[in-house]
Amino acid sequence: MEALINIDKLNLYYGAFHALKNVSLTIPAKAITAFIGPSGCGKSTLLRTLNRMNDMIQGTRIEGSIIIDQQNIYSSEVEVEALRRKIGMVFQQPNPFPKSIYDNVAYGPRLHGITNKKELDEIVETSLKSAVLWGEVKDSLKRSALGLSGGQQQRLCIARAIAVNPDILLMDEATSALDPISTLKIEELTQELKDKYTIVMVTHNMHQAARVSNQTVFFLNGEVVEYADTEKLFSNPSDQRTEDYISGRFG
Ligand code: ADP
Repeated sequence: MEALINIDKLNLYYGAFHALKNVSLTIPAKAITAFIGPSGCGKSTLLRTLNRMNDMIQGTRIEGSIIIDQQNIYSSEVEVEALRRKIGMVFQQPNPFPKSIYDNVAYGPRLHGITNKKELDEIVETSLKSAVLWGEVKDSLKRSALGLSGGQQQRLCIARAIAVNPDILLMDEATSALDPISTLKIEELTQELKDKYTIVMVTHNMHQAARVSNQTVFFLNGEVVEYADTEKLFSNPSDQRTEDYISGRFG
C-alpha cells in the first residue's frame, strides 16, 4: 500500500508533560487507520499533530518529523493554512456553522475563491451526496444547519470537510456523541469515503475500530504498543498489553 503519512520519532510535550513518546508510524493512503487505547493515552494529541492543531496550544513542544506527501509538515516553509486545506477534520461534537446547509458546505470553496454559483451548486451537491446526506436535505438547502439532527449535522460536517477536496480526513471520536443508528450511518459512510480519502480516526470504541478500519494502532501512556492490520490486531495480537486491552481487562 502507498504510504501517505510518515511519522518518525515523534515526541510531544505539553510543558513538562511528555504526552507522545518516540512515536514512529507509517499511515497508508486510501485506507482507514484507527487509533485506539484508554483515555489519556495520546490518541487525540497524535491526530492533532497531523494538521498542526497542537500549534495553537501554548507550551507545546514537538521533536521528530511528520512527512506528508514528501514534505515535513513541521519545516519552516510549510504554510499551515495550505496544510489544513489538504487535511479535513471532524470532531466529537458536530459543529456546523449557524448558517444554511448550503452555506456550510460552500464555506470552504468560497474561502478558496470560488464564486461561480453553478460551480458552487455542483460542489455542494457532490459533497452532500458523498456524505450520504443529499437525499435528506436537497429540498431544504436554505434551512439552518442547526435544525438538523445530530447525526445529520455530523454528516454535514463531513460534507463541509470534503467540499475542499482534501487528501486526508481526520475523525476525532466523530460518532461518540451520536445515537447508534447515526453511528452506523457514519461508519457505513467511512467505507465509501476510504476509496477516495486517507482516513485517520480516533475511537474509544474498539468494536468500531474492528468494524471499520484497515489498520489499528494501540496506544498506552503516549507510546505505540502495537500497530497491525486490524484483523490481526484483534484476532492475534503480538503484545500481551494489546491482548489485555482488547479482551477488556483494562481501559
Ligand atoms: P486521548 O485522546 O487518548 O484520550 P489525549 O491526546 O487527549 O488522549 O491526551 C493525552 C495526555 O495529554 C493526557 O494525559 C492529557 O491530560 C494530556 N493533555 C491533552 N491535552 C493537553 C493540553 N492542552 N495541555 C496539557 N495536557 C494535555
